[in-house]
Amino acid sequence: MSPSRFSVAICGGGIGGLTLAVALSKYPEIEVNVYEAAGQFKEIGAGVMIWARTWEILTLLGMAGDFSRIAHAPPDGSLGIGFDYRKSDQPSEGSRFYLFEVPYGCIRFHRAHFLDALVGHLPAGAAHFGKRLISYARRRDRRTALAFADGSSATCDLLVGCDGIKSTVRKQMLEDSVRAGGDRTLLELVDPVWSGTVAYRGLIPVEKLRSAHGTEHRTIQSPMMYCGKGKHVVSYSISAGSIVNVVALASKPELYGTPWTGAWVEDCPASEMQECYSQWEPEVGELLKCIEKPTRWAIHEMKPLPFYARDGVVLLGDAAHAMTPNQGAGAGQAIEDAFILASVLGHPSTDRQTLEAALQAYERVRLPIANHALRGSRESGDMYEFNGPVRDDLAVLGPRIGRQWDWLWESTAQGERDRAIGMLRSTKAKL
Ligand SMILES: Cc1cc2nc3c(=O)[nH]c(=O)nc-3n(C[C@H](O)[C@H](O)[C@H](O)COP(=O)(O)OP(=O)(O)OC[C@H]3O[C@@H](n4cnc5c(N)ncnc54)[C@H](O)[C@@H]3O)c2cc1C
Repeated sequence: MSPSRFSVAICGGGIGGLTLAVALSKYPEIEVNVYEAAGQFKEIGAGVMIWARTWEILTLLGMAGDFSRIAHAPPDGSLGIGFDYRKSDQPSEGSRFYLFEVPYGCIRFHRAHFLDALVGHLPAGAAHFGKRLISYARRRDRRTALAFADGSSATCDLLVGCDGIKSTVRKQMLEDSVRAGGDRTLLELVDPVWSGTVAYRGLIPVEKLRSAHGTEHRTIQSPMMYCGKGKHVVSYSISAGSIVNVVALASKPELYGTPWTGAWVEDCPASEMQECYSQWEPEVGELLKCIEKPTRWAIHEMKPLPFYARDGVVLLGDAAHAMTPNQGAGAGQAIEDAFILASVLGHPSTDRQTLEAALQAYERVRLPIANHALRGSRESGDMYEFNGPVRDDLAVLGPRIGRQWDWLWESTAQGERDRAIGMLRSTKAKL
């Protein structure tokens, strides 16, 4: 084996960290270690959906076969329903006001299956469990020392913070930047803010929904977005169509940015969720009645960061840009971060001395798009809940909702990778 070009420590083994480990495994001369706080890799929550942009990356990483097997149906590129938007906030039957169709439609998975598929591609020996990072320190030799809660330590050339919305790495990166003379307002970006929204989540066996509804419930075939004032309900089938995933959101925009004092995720009575939508059209009620044990999530988001990388440390996924779930984009953006970061790190010209150039290229390519998705996700939620600029003017709202997805097709993952490598080359030329 050739000596390693440099070593990468990935802090956090969620979708972002694991995708990065898989993508970096294509470059055997880069040493990769994943430090996960928990005793095993695990996902909480239920379904997760991605768009063609992310599917392209899974394909480029050689994982299309595995992910096809666990999708709601094997993705074949044909035109599919992204979401079927209905006005549903009245007791009588609602109606469609917009149908969003795209190549591949929305590609849906059970989260546990999604994570398992990534774990199946991890390089042997890369994972270390029970390793909660508590701090890091940059040494004189430009290596970074990591300290874990169990008293152990490790070193690396590059630390990647993939440690989610409450990221320890982000907190230290921002605080260190202020200590080094950076703007004090950076400290306002450390903690995520409550969006004013709670989401009820649950899974329903399709057979249960069929018998409750009497006939085929619309959402078994189509990803649905039931919309209404201050609330919306997302539902779609996963796991080869055997399970329906439901996320029911309720918002108080006036509470945006106020402190959330309870647990971020907890069990809640089914009656609380059902009561919240009791005046909605019947098919929403039928759906929610099938969820016996919902969980309630306080939806937080980050304020957009002005940088993702500093001094041999870089952020990825929710640690960099945690967003509301309204465009189904947070996991896809974490995967895209991983793909671009691995591409610039794996480029033959990147070594210990030139790591910073690779991080600059990553940041310049990823930050504007990810921060756009972050802002866009919030605006989308407002639109679905008739709180956007055109309120419930449905004829105008429908096409506006369609345009909020434009960023997904304005570039491709491969094109973004080529752009990042082009930037890497030109930065190096100036060094
Ligand atoms: C209700 C809801 C629905 C969503 N639906 C979608 C969707 O359909 N599509 C989509 O693309 N996105 C969706 N998202 C967003 C998506 O779930 C996240 O963006 C994505 O999971 C983030 O992945 P991550 O790897 O960055 O972070 P995480 O999944 O949070 O992983 C972080 C990992 O780091 C570990 N960790 C934390 N701290 C430390 C530490 N100090 N040391 C070591 N390890 C640590 C954690 O244990 C965890 O394993 C949704 C989000 C919500 C809330």
